[in-house]
Amino acid sequence: MLKVNEIYFSVQGESTYAGRPCVFIRLTYCNLRCTYCDTEYAFYEGYDSKVDSIIKEVKKYKCNLVELTGGEPLIQEESFVLMEKLCSAGFEVMLETGGHMSIKEVDKRVKIIMDLKCPSSKMMKKNHYENIAYLKKIDEVKFVIGTREDYDWMKIILSEYNLDKKVPILCSVVFGELEPVTLVNWILEDNLNVRYQLQMHKIIWEPQERGV
Ligand code: SF4
Repeated sequence: MLKVNEIYFSVQGESTYAGRPCVFIRLTYCNLRCTYCDTEYAFYEGYDSKVDSIIKEVKKYKCNLVELTGGEPLIQEESFVLMEKLCSAGFEVMLETGGHMSIKEVDKRVKIIMDLKCPSSKMMKKNHYENIAYLKKIDEVKFVIGTREDYDWMKIILSEYNLDKKVPILCSVVFGELEPVTLVNWILEDNLNVRYQLQMHKIIWEPQERGV
């Protein structure tokens, strides 16, 4: 049994797949408390559902792309089974994870979008750097930048782990904290090998809108 916060159909917003229609399975619970979190409603709210019922629900949308998000999906052990079963059923499966839980046992067919938490999130100490060894070519790493300190820290991590040579690097601002143009200028000044991305959902819909 899994605790599900919501299942909904929208467009993929925060990866190199941005803009593609996607079914989102938002699972309940998170063991981080990022300063900028915009999904606090997923910390506890949700309903119990069996893996097969979730897959049945997903199939209703007739969309081949599915993403597990949260909260933190990997807290619930059955999320691993859900991903496996979705892959075997022929879905293209993505996982958004905070980067503090091990991704070692995630089905290799899953495209992982993994955060590395920057200093201003106040969750940096939770980063599970061992995960970097398990990243595959199809995966992506995301940095959410709120300050210049965050940006400089990201550069150190990229060079320390040769990370931008391994996987695409996604880079966005903390909404309302840092102007996009500021981050883009920093990236251009350094000619950094990263992909700047807008939080598409906050532009298409109202920033606080749920289920989109
Ligand atoms: S990992 Fe995601 S859901 Fe959890 S506190 Fe941070 S931003 Fe919120």
